[in-house]
Amino acid sequence: KKMCDIHFKGPNVMITGTPGTGKTTLCSQLVEQTGLNLISIGELAKDNNFYGEYDSELQSYELDEDKVIDEIDECMKEGGNVVDYHGCDFFPERWFDAVFVLRTDNTVLYERLEKRNYSQRKIQENVQCEIMRVVLDEALDSYKSEIVYELESDTPDHMEQNLATIKNWIEKWKSEHRQ
Ligand code: ADP
Ligand code: MN
Repeated sequence: KKMCDIHFKGPNVMITGTPGTGKTTLCSQLVEQTGLNLISIGELAKDNNFYGEYDSELQSYELDEDKVIDEIDECMKEGGNVVDYHGCDFFPERWFDAVFVLRTDNTVLYERLEKRNYSQRKIQENVQCEIMRVVLDEALDSYKSEIVYELESDTPDHMEQNLATIKNWIEKWKSEHRQ
């Protein structure tokens, strides 16, 4: 095993889910409480202009996935990262020790996205994506099912439970990977 393949700073955890399911809120609390390093793919892309073609269908720029991967590969090899993004299929599978997929009830999600001033069309697309469990299936297609965890994220209570679940998972991982 090469040195750079050892996650010596802790596990790498993916927090994914449809926009509005609560990824960023959960991630900020998670890094505050665990000291893990936060990598928001959206912020990273914005700061470095990692964009490709304009997608007129989605009315947004495509992510330059190769540039994102190059930028954070070293950091991911070291371990100890929490990654926040609404997709997960283009990352190297070897990066992640756990993939948590946040799920939200349609009506709740609709209201959250409406508060964000998303266009009616964008709201419908995202709610549809959640109904069709697109992100969960993407995670299950891209990673071993043993490391994919579905978490309900409708209420503040769920948020607290999810934080506890993920922190427990991290502690267990650390106890099994003593260095
Ligand atoms: P994402 O990063 O997945 O797009 P956010 O973390 O930005 O989602 O959350 C979207 C909105 O929903 C925010 O206003 C946030 O406060 C709220 N929210 C997120 N998770 C929950 C939850 N479990 N219970 C209640 N409100 C939540
Ligand atoms: Mn977010």
